[in-house]
Amino acid sequence: MEVVYLLTAEIPSEFHCAQITTFHIQHVGNYMEKQFYIPFKNSEFNTENCFLCGHKIEGKITREHVFPKWLQKEFDLWDKTISITNETTIQYKNLTVPCCSKCNNEHLSILESNFQKLMQKGFKELTSFDEQVVFDWCGKILYATRHKELSLLYDRQKPELGSIISDEEFQSYSCFQLFLQSIRYETTWNVKPWSLFFFESETESFFYQTRVSFPCLSIKLGKHIVIVLFEDNNAIENHFENFKQIRFTPLSFVQQIEITAYLFYSASIKAKIPYYHSHFFNGHLTVNSSSDIYSKEFDYDDFALYYRMMLFEVGIEFKEKIHTGNGMINTSLIDKNNEPLIK
Ligand SMILES: [Zn+2]
Repeated sequence: MEVVYLLTAEIPSEFHCAQITTFHIQHVGNYMEKQFYIPFKNSEFNTENCFLCGHKIEGKITREHVFPKWLQKEFDLWDKTISITNETTIQYKNLTVPCCSKCNNEHLSILESNFQKLMQKGFKELTSFDEQVVFDWCGKILYATRHKELSLLYDRQKPELGSIISDEEFQSYSCFQLFLQSIRYETTWNVKPWSLFFFESETESFFYQTRVSFPCLSIKLGKHIVIVLFEDNNAIENHFENFKQIRFTPLSFVQQIEITAYLFYSASIKAKIPYYHSHFFNGHLTVNSSSDIYSKEFDYDDFALYYRMMLFEVGIEFKEKIHTGNGMINTSLIDKNNEPLIK
């Protein structure tokens, strides 16, 4: 157990951006071809329907690794285990979903190749298209994990795995699945439905963190840390613009967890879900959202509990008070001279 000593520093007192409740998806316009994907609510969570397009797989059923093979090889994950729903553990090599050959061999292999190129470049100077690639790659991991969990839950041989997810969660992932059709089709967004953050780490290793209650993901790929918050219409990225000051400052593990705690907590206090309208025409997907995004008030005591819990999850005990009053938070985000890293 590690004890960490932190310095008190001030953090922004208000979080003005996101709030979210129920997802509404509306398809408008003419369909000039057969339904381009089977929506989540009509999807079959079995071994015969493609996790991405939802169609029944004709011919050979291929298995798509949720964490791609190249990643498992690079970070030696193959035989290691990951926790999914209800503390179920599964080996990375067995965390697979059914996939049709078109989605597997065309769309997803292009996505993997594009993502690897960005990783090799250290995720620097990303274009809008590059951001889309990161969003799709991370989104696929999150969505495919949920798909796998649902197929396990639907397995009557394993009732101990618990009940089906709530309607709200279901709606949330339905929206998510729509977004991921951007892996298959060129897509235009009137507003980016994501917030993306990139940081550097002091150490090279693999680390993965997410939350069940809302779509978010933090992944450390060697020296690169990628944090994605989904369905916030870029509000959290705008709010935490000052985090970009430490984009290239190598972070310790505790600093990484603290940053993640700020971002995940902010996503957790969203209090209104945006509407998304999709339109598919001539092989082009358009997704528009016109909703304002709001958050509940940033509660420092709640945040302190949240941060403490995230530290505890990774085996770090912090005995000091985290919220010392009046929005002053004990922070690890300091330099060698005990000066705050973020001004
Ligand atoms: Zn497919």
